[in-house]
Amino acid sequence: MGGLLSRFGGAPQKASPPEGEDAPLAPIRSSDVERRAGLLDSLEKSDLGWFWASDRAGRLIYLSGPAAERISESTESLLGTKISELFLDDKDAEDSSTQRPLKFQLAARNSLRPTIVKIERGGKTKWWEISGAPMLADGDAFSGYHGIARDVTATIASQRNAEKLSRYDSLTGLANRHRITHKLSATLSAFQVAKRSCATMLLDLDRFKQVNDTMGHPAGDELLKQVSQRLTRIVGDQGEIGRLGGDEFQILLPDVEDRAVLGELSERIIQMLSQPYSINGMRAVIGCSVGVAVAPFDGIESEELIKAADLALYAAKGGGRGQFRFYSSDLRDKASHRHQIEEDLRDALSKNELEMHFQPIVSADEHRVVCVEALMRWNHAERGMVSPADFIPVAEEVGIIRELGEWAINDVCQKVASWQSGICAAINVSAVQFASDNFFDIVKKALQNSGVDPSQIELEITESVFVGDIERALRMFRELKEIGVRLALDDFGTGYSSLSYLRDAPFDKIKIDQSFVRGCTEEGNNNGAIVSAVVSLAKALNMETVAEGVETKDELEAVVSFGAARIQGALFARAMPEQELRERLDKGALLFEPKGPEKYRSDRRTEFRKIGLIHEDSRYSVFLRNLSKTGAKIEGLLDVPIGTDIVLDLGGGQLAVAKVRRSEGFSQGVEFETALVSDGADGLCTRHRVSPYQIEAAGRPLGALNDLAVAAITGAMSKSPKAFIEVDMSVPGEQMAAQAY
Ligand code: C2E
Ligand code: MG
Ligand code: MG
Repeated sequence: MGGLLSRFGGAPQKASPPEGEDAPLAPIRSSDVERRAGLLDSLEKSDLGWFWASDRAGRLIYLSGPAAERISESTESLLGTKISELFLDDKDAEDSSTQRPLKFQLAARNSLRPTIVKIERGGKTKWWEISGAPMLADGDAFSGYHGIARDVTATIASQRNAEKLSRYDSLTGLANRHRITHKLSATLSAFQVAKRSCATMLLDLDRFKQVNDTMGHPAGDELLKQVSQRLTRIVGDQGEIGRLGGDEFQILLPDVEDRAVLGELSERIIQMLSQPYSINGMRAVIGCSVGVAVAPFDGIESEELIKAADLALYAAKGGGRGQFRFYSSDLRDKASHRHQIEEDLRDALSKNELEMHFQPIVSADEHRVVCVEALMRWNHAERGMVSPADFIPVAEEVGIIRELGEWAINDVCQKVASWQSGICAAINVSAVQFASDNFFDIVKKALQNSGVDPSQIELEITESVFVGDIERALRMFRELKEIGVRLALDDFGTGYSSLSYLRDAPFDKIKIDQSFVRGCTEEGNNNGAIVSAVVSLAKALNMETVAEGVETKDELEAVVSFGAARIQGALFARAMPEQELRERLDKGALLFEPKGPEKYRSDRRTEFRKIGLIHEDSRYSVFLRNLSKTGAKIEGLLDVPIGTDIVLDLGGGQLAVAKVRRSEGFSQGVEFETALVSDGADGLCTRHRVSPYQIEAAGRPLGALNDLAVAAITGAMSKSPKAFIEVDMSVPGEQMAAQAY
C-alpha cells in the first residue's frame, strides 16, 4: 500500500519517469479498494480528519492512529473503551445547558451532528469535534457507530479565554456585570417555570472612595481583591458573586427565600468585610451596605428585582451604612415620597410652611430649663407635619439647606431677642451649610439685625464637618467663638471618630446621641459605659454634656448617675411651638417634671398600624399596637377567646400564624408560632411570605406581591358570617403625636 499512499497527501512523491510531471493520475474508482484505503490512510495521517468506530455495545473498535497519538495513547490501549467514557460532554460550552448529553444520544442511537467533546487522558484535556452515524447491519440491526473526528483544542482554548475575559472581571476574577445580569435573567426565567425562588443581594462598600483617594488606586485594587476573596469564602457554593464595577457587588442565591437565612448571611458579610485589611503593610477599614430582594416576591423579572434590591440598598445606606435592608413596597413609596418632598421643599419657605419649634434642655439636678433646641417643622399643606429627619437630608442633597438654614438662624435670633427670660437657644447647622462661604457672614448679620446677645445663641454642629477641610473648620470655629456664640457638638459618637478634633475645637458642649442613651440601662449593653466615658472626656476638656432623647425614668436615672449635666428628651418635654414655650417662660414655669414610662423595653416596639386578621374564613381589620419577635398586641375585636388560632396579615405577603394568649375587651395579646426576624432596620418581618406562585395558583395574574391579591386569597372574599365583632378604632390624638416622633 506504501507505493499507492505516496501518491496522496504529504509523503514525498517518487517520480515515475514514464508518466512525466503532468501526467494525470488514473481516477480512483469505488471498486478500487486498495486506492480508496490509501486515500483514507493519508487523510488520517494528515490530521485533516480521523475515524472512529464502535460496536453495538458502544465500545471503541477503531480509532485512527494519529488521533490516539494526539492523546498520548496507543490505539491498542484505547480499543474496547466505552465511547461514552472517552468522549465527554463539554459542560463549559455556551450551549451545554440546551444540548442533550452525549450518553443520551448514544443510547438513543441518534446520529451525531458535529459536537464538541472533551477528552481527558493522561492528565491532559483536549477538545475534539466529532460526528457519527449509527450503522445498521443486515436486517436493520444496529451494529455500532462510524464517525469522524478532528482536534479543535487550539480554537476552543482561545475561544474560552476570550469568553472568560468577556464574562469575568479581570481584577477579581468574579463574574462581571454582563455575566451576572445574564445569569440572573436566565435563572429567573427558568425558575419561574419551576416555581422556585431566587434571592439577590446588592452590596456597596462604604468609605471605599476614601481608601482609593488617600492610599492610591493600586491600594484600592488590592482592597477589592481582598473583598472578593472574603465574599467568595462566605458565599461558597451557595450562590454566584459578581462585581458590577467600582465598589459594587451582586450575589445571586438560588432557592433562598427565608429572610432569617438572608438576614444572617447579610450580617455575616457586613461583619467580615468590615474587619481591617492589610494592604502593602498599611491598614484600611471599610464598611459595607447590603440591599436584599427575593424573586418572585419582590419582582418576577430581573429588571424589577434589581430595582427592588437597589431601593433596599439605598435605604440601607440612608439608614447609616453598615446595615442590610430587605426590600419592601414602602421603600418604593418612600422613594416617590422623597421625590415629592424634593419638589415641594422648593416652595416651602415662600409658602410660609416652615416654623421653628423649641425643645427644652433641663439641668440634671433641678430639671430647670437652661436652654432650648430649635427644631424645624414643616407643616405641609396636604401631608401635614413632615419630619425634619425626612426633609433635612433631601434639603442637604439638593442644596436648599443653605436657604433653610439662613432662614432658621434669622428666625431664631429674632425670637430669642424678644424673650425676657434670657435663656439660650441652640440652632442646628448642617455640614453643607457650614461649608458654604458666606456662613460666617450670615451668622454675624443675624446677630446684628436681631440685636440678640450672642451668648444666647448656640450652634449645633455634627461630626461630619470634620470630613473635608479641617483647617477651615477649626478657623471657622475660632471666628464664631470670637463673635461670642457658643458651639455644641451634636449627635456625638454617631459619625467619624473625632477625639483628636475635640482637643482642638473650642466646643462648649457635647450632645450624646440618643442611640447611646437608648438601652444604656440594660444589662450587657455597652451604651452605659460609652455615656460614662464621654462625660469624663467632656469634663476633662471643660465641656458640658447633654444626654439627648431621654424617654424613660430609668434612662434619666442612668444618665444622671453617669454624670450628664443636662438632659433633653420626651420625658421632660417635646419640641413645642414658640408661643407655648413663651407662655411657660413668661409665667416663670421653668421647672419640668419627668413624665413618662418607668422603663425602656427594647423588645417592644410601639406601632399604630392597621393590619389584617384572619380567623377561619373571615378577614378582619385590626390595629397593631405593639410588636415583638414573639408576639403582638392587637386591638379592634371584641372578646376573642383565649386559645383562638388566628393569622395576622402584616402586609406585603407576611402572614404570621398566632394564638391568642391574653384577651381583655377589645384588646388581645397573641403569640406567634414562628418568631419574626429583623428587617435590617428597626422593624421586624416574617421569615417567609405568601408566594406569588400561590396567588397565581388561586387564579390571579403572576406579579410581585401586593396586599390586595394577598387579602383576596386569604379570606376577604368569604361570605361566611364573622365570629367576632369588629370595633372601630381611630387613633387617639396623643398616640398620633408619639407616632410623629
Ligand atoms: P437633632 O439635632 O439630634 O435633634 C434632636 C432630635 O431628637 C429631634 O428630632 C427631637 O425632636 C428628637 N427628640 C428629642 N427628644 C426625644 C425623645 O425623647 N425621643 C425621641 N425618639 N426623639 C427625641 P427632630 O426634631 O425630628 O429632628 C431631627 C433632626 O433633624 C435633628 O436631630 C437635626 O439633625 C435635624 N434638624 C432639625 N431641625 C433642623 C434645622 O433647623 N436645621 C438643620 N440643619 N437640621 C435640623
Ligand atoms: Mg441638634
Ligand atoms: Mg442630636
